[in-house]
Amino acid sequence: MPGIITATCLIVLLIGGVAANAANDISLSRRLEILKNAYPDAIKDIQANLIIMHDGTSMQIDDGITKDHQTRLKKADIKDSLSQIYPLGACFTGPPNRNFDPGRIRNSQFMRMLYGKTKSKARNNLTRISWFGSRVLFNRRHGAAEALELVRESLEKLPEKYARYFNKTAGTFNWRMISGTKRLSVHSFGAAIDINTRYANYWRWAGGKPGRVPKYQNQIPHEIVTAFERHGFIWGGKWYHFDTMHFEYRPELIAIGKLAEERGCTR
Ligand SMILES: [Zn+2]
Repeated sequence: MPGIITATCLIVLLIGGVAANAANDISLSRRLEILKNAYPDAIKDIQANLIIMHDGTSMQIDDGITKDHQTRLKKADIKDSLSQIYPLGACFTGPPNRNFDPGRIRNSQFMRMLYGKTKSKARNNLTRISWFGSRVLFNRRHGAAEALELVRESLEKLPEKYARYFNKTAGTFNWRMISGTKRLSVHSFGAAIDINTRYANYWRWAGGKPGRVPKYQNQIPHEIVTAFERHGFIWGGKWYHFDTMHFEYRPELIAIGKLAEERGCTR
């Protein structure tokens, strides 16, 4: 009998565990709602498999294609771009697992729609922001430039010893492909900033090649990361393909990450 009782308990525990996970899960429709709320000036509505924009165009959410990680990076649909949850606070537990790149999976059509379809259109959306004795260009659409100003205000409050990490920047706006790929970098839209390269660790500079990522390294203090995250920026130091100088404005991923944190670090 004890054996049967133990087995029954185990089944109950297993079912309970599955149910708890299901309850904690952040559904695709919830993620899409968060996306819509993050860009209210761009997204009018979500209908079935479509995002409807205010300009009357629409975008497919799920292309129905099953992809491996490399293909997802190259040909992400909207669903893919929301598939990995960016870890906030205690949910970030150290070097990212293989192919865990939350935010690095992007849909370029969507990014173009947000910030400018061509180089000249993106450039027209830029504004200048003062940055520790210099000025940087950042995209004014969807609150990106305002968010960077708030980051600067948060960084100004940190003790002086942190300034060397960010008072020099390696750039914001630069219409270019991601190194070694044919995909536009977020820098093309002026929605990302690279801080001081002197303290940066980048998987490619460490000798990485596609399919072979070197051991994780980082020198950026978490206080700096938190200042950016607080205002809607994700950090490339939380990627398997680590890029620790890189911060980009992705308020939808920060909002999904917050919800996951509240629910006990949903993955
Ligand atoms: Zn960058």
